[in-house]
Amino acid sequence: ALGMATPTAILVGTGKGAENGILIKSGEALERAKKINTIIFDKTGTLTKGKPEVTDIVTLGKTSERDVLFYSALAEKGSEHPLAEAILNKAKEKKISVPHAGKFRAISGKGVSASYRNKNILLGNRALMNAERIRITDEIESSLASLENRGKTAMLVAVNRKIAGIIAVADTLKDEAVDVVEKLGKMNIDVIMITGDNERTARAVASNLGIDNVLAAVLPGKKSAEIKKLQRSGKVVAMVGDGINDAPALAQADIGIAIGSGTDVALETGQIVLIKNNLNDVINAIKLSKYTMRKIKQNLFWAFIYNVAGIPVAAGILYPYSGLLLSPIIAAGAMAFSSIFVVGNSALMKRYKMEQSQLRRHHI
Ligand code: ADP
Ligand code: MG
Repeated sequence: ALGMATPTAILVGTGKGAENGILIKSGEALERAKKINTIIFDKTGTLTKGKPEVTDIVTLGKTSERDVLFYSALAEKGSEHPLAEAILNKAKEKKISVPHAGKFRAISGKGVSASYRNKNILLGNRALMNAERIRITDEIESSLASLENRGKTAMLVAVNRKIAGIIAVADTLKDEAVDVVEKLGKMNIDVIMITGDNERTARAVASNLGIDNVLAAVLPGKKSAEIKKLQRSGKVVAMVGDGINDAPALAQADIGIAIGSGTDVALETGQIVLIKNNLNDVINAIKLSKYTMRKIKQNLFWAFIYNVAGIPVAAGILYPYSGLLLSPIIAAGAMAFSSIFVVGNSALMKRYKMEQSQLRRHHI
């Protein structure tokens, strides 16, 4: 019975998860989920739908709106970033044909660069322009800030090293995100949002979600270092993410939770995968973990109690007072019964009802 107490409960627990679209890859992950006291959510694609759309185009000098979109689309043609997709969709919508650019280069966490005819095009954030020593005037800075304060990701477009415009993109929050953040708060779990996006945009998005803790402008390689920092301060951290750049953080966290619609690398790295892409399942996974651990404790209790009570009696502890000894037949019966109890108690876990979360298909 002792030997079966843990594995039978874990087996039924992970099965219960799978039935509800929560893939738990190991018993350890199921056991550890209960101890989580901090959850870090990636912004794009995890808290948001990951389908950003172009919302504003700001022109500077003589450049037309169409030109800003044309150059941006040109530069993004070789990129797989969600921001690139948004810009290319907008160009398509406006029936702008986008030729192939030369010398395409993606600059991780900053933007892209490309060339077309005799023009050099740069598209990205302030960090990119600073690295290229392209001047951002006060006027440009204030347009950027006003877009960012509204939760938009604003990108600068420079043609031949002169800023020609701003293109802004916004992503919608997942329907359940606000609710999940609030529920986690009530469970005394700290919620943190992490993103490569700039501080202002990140703060604006986080405030719509009721999240106070924001780690912004984190370069793709640095997400896992932020997790390590939290772990050193004694936190038990879960990371929820979807992107390639989240994979090292998913691996570093005490538990990595991958969104089912995410990239293959994230799915491979996460110890828990949420097939339904629904953030409510983060809570369901924690509750399932707590429930399973409770069952394991019950099982261990019933596996032990017969021995704790039976062995001393069988050894004659009561014999001097009452002449009581245990017959080996009773011992054998108790042993069998404790095994039956443990297996039966684990089997009863099948009755556990999980809150049903809806399947979400954002990325398909
Ligand atoms: P996230 O953590 O939100 O997935 P990334 O680390 O991929 O963000 O990117 C951080 C920032 O770098 C973006 O908000 C954007 O300003 C800039 N950036 C990255 N890739 C691109 C791109 N292909 N085009 C324009 N800007 C980009
Ligand atoms: Mg992401």
